[in-house]
Amino acid sequence: MNTSGFNTRAIHASQEPDEQTGAVTVPVHLATTYAQQGVNQHKGFEYSRTGNPTRQALEGSIAALEQVKHGFAFGSGMAAEDAILRMLNPGDNVLLGNDAYGGTFRLLDKIYSRIGVTWTAVDLTDVSQVAAAWTPATKLVWLETPTNPNLNVFDIAAVAAEAHRQGGLCIVDNTFATPYLQQPAALGADLIVHSATKYLGGHSDVVGGLAATDNDELAEHLAFTQNSTGAVISPFDCYLLLRGMKTLGVRMDRHFENATAVVDLLTSHSAVETVLYPGLAGHPGHEVARDQMRNFGGMVSFVPVGGADAAARIVTSTKLFTLAESLGAVESLIEVPAGMTHGSTAGSPLEVDAGLVRLSVGIENVEDLLDDLKHALG
Ligand SMILES: *Cc1c(COP(=O)(O)O)cnc(C)c1O
Repeated sequence: MNTSGFNTRAIHASQEPDEQTGAVTVPVHLATTYAQQGVNQHKGFEYSRTGNPTRQALEGSIAALEQVKHGFAFGSGMAAEDAILRMLNPGDNVLLGNDAYGGTFRLLDKIYSRIGVTWTAVDLTDVSQVAAAWTPATKLVWLETPTNPNLNVFDIAAVAAEAHRQGGLCIVDNTFATPYLQQPAALGADLIVHSATKYLGGHSDVVGGLAATDNDELAEHLAFTQNSTGAVISPFDCYLLLRGMKTLGVRMDRHFENATAVVDLLTSHSAVETVLYPGLAGHPGHEVARDQMRNFGGMVSFVPVGGADAAARIVTSTKLFTLAESLGAVESLIEVPAGMTHGSTAGSPLEVDAGLVRLSVGIENVEDLLDDLKHALG
């Protein structure tokens, strides 16, 4: 295992200077096929769906950042999730945090339900509920922490231990925290998935998904599925992700610093009813977050006084915070999850408060961000 510091790994792991030319950044290998010296005698690459040198560098990089053996890259976070869930068979059941990403819920509820896979929403803040909900058909717990968009915090070590006690797997969506803030594998998670579109890419210019695991059997499943179903990411997008990930640590520190100032403003503002942020001492998951995360991250949610109407007014009044879906990039974004990213959860146990506003706090000058919010809150 590469034991260098996080930023060193982000910049160097799996990205040695090119042997042939000395190029210090990984070249974008566009070739779809590779010359063979004899039948099936080659230099490790045959066809770019199966393996590509630029993708291999990215896959090695996420493995090094999550401190596990195997990494896999896909065309989007959802493609990565789909590749993972293809391990399930008809009749299998998934325990899903009751506050999961809308797209994950939709994938299980609308696509996997068609082959007879079922899901059960569980409040993962209470680990005894995992044991209570577990049935002989249950194969895994799907856990996101902090959650999108309610910023609930779950104890990864406790949930993973319970899943293992039941004979199942614990899969962690580490998109919000990133490997810089939180290392699920060290806490017992079997498999980690990322929407690399968010903090890992970090510049709102690439869609991608990553998976990482220390488990050889799960790695074999992922490699086989990646090659068989073909939801691979392009070499250029691999390059963009490698480029973004080099600065992940410094960006995450600034996201946190700015988010802390934004939370200070929101908690003291009369137009704000509730602020959801794991860094707040009163947050129910504050202590778990303090133990399992390096800092509390850059995502902040709040409910304004006046609910949905006020939320709609605020998100169209900011100038620097752009009204848009997605998160985790250098620029600040604002949205109303119930009507945007989480529309698919309406009427389900995962339904989101219609008045909830979600902020992805960027790395602009914090005074400018605070001015923008003060103005929008009125
Ligand atoms: C965005 C997101 C996804 C889906 O990833 P895409 O790259 O958009 O396919 C999954 N989980 C979380 C927590 C996300 O925020």
